[in-house]
Amino acid sequence: MNLKKLALTLALAGFSVTGHAAFPEKAVTLVVPFAAGGPSDKIARDVAEALREPLGQAVIVENVSGAGGTIGTAKVARTAADGYTLLVHHIGMATAPSLYKQLSYQVPDSFEFLGLINEAPSTLIGRPSLAANSFDELRQWINENKDKVNLANAGVGSASHLCGLMLQEALKVNMTTIAYKGTAPAMIDLMGGQVDLMCEQATNAVTQIEAKKVKSYGVTSTQRLKLPSMAAVPTLTESGLTGFNVTVWHGLYAPRNTPPEVLAKLNAALRSALKNPQLIQREEALGLSIINDDRLDPAGHKKYVTNEMARWSKVIQDSGQQPN
Ligand code: ASP
Repeated sequence: MNLKKLALTLALAGFSVTGHAAFPEKAVTLVVPFAAGGPSDKIARDVAEALREPLGQAVIVENVSGAGGTIGTAKVARTAADGYTLLVHHIGMATAPSLYKQLSYQVPDSFEFLGLINEAPSTLIGRPSLAANSFDELRQWINENKDKVNLANAGVGSASHLCGLMLQEALKVNMTTIAYKGTAPAMIDLMGGQVDLMCEQATNAVTQIEAKKVKSYGVTSTQRLKLPSMAAVPTLTESGLTGFNVTVWHGLYAPRNTPPEVLAKLNAALRSALKNPQLIQREEALGLSIINDDRLDPAGHKKYVTNEMARWSKVIQDSGQQPN
């Protein structure tokens, strides 16, 4: 077979004759495993915009929501490992393995790690019609209404679900949980008074707290938010729930066996995107922090997620939550 024929045969079989030097040659898709308009969606859209320049291609966001983020994650795990379909996912990457008996993917083995993106503090918020104006008043109301209190979340393994588990355990009450495909649709019901409480990342919560469309009862991370409008909101630890800590992080992933040259280009593009001043400004205005440490390295990212898996597996076990 002459060289021309070989190249044609390889091209027809789907192999690139030039290797991956030209990657990316078409738009890249970021799958978000939660509904549009929520915190994961917002960060993915900001990152997509910032990735456009370093990648020199359009970057599209696709929402594949449901089952606490596991449906979208499974979709990326089984997609072609060519770098054109990536996953933006949060803490659920580390928690789902402890909460689902039959996941069709494994963490970390089904994925390549491209770098951690951000850390987002979270808050406990309530419907605007709740009479309670502080965490202490809320606690009293919860104790008086025990079985009637309900709590929205984004499905089993989502950040809001985990935060809710920890809250119920800390307060020694069982609340009715209502699962949505993301916290964006849950926020609409919370503002409308159809549900009582929810844990939500600052990404979405701060604007609604500032507009008084929801009540804020505390920061679920270890430190108060560094925003003037939120400076007076105490952490749940300050309010007596010692050690309460739900901080949400997001990372970027490719399916396992994506070629190393493609991974290197994607990691370099992510590093460049995270230096984008508009991205940094938008994130900081909501109290989030962009990652700028060794968790931006694929190895550091993988190590961090593996540690988080161990940490959350203990929290989940202690909460008595059985795998689905
Ligand atoms: N904030 C959501 C969660 O609780 C997910 C989302 O809609 O972004 O995990």
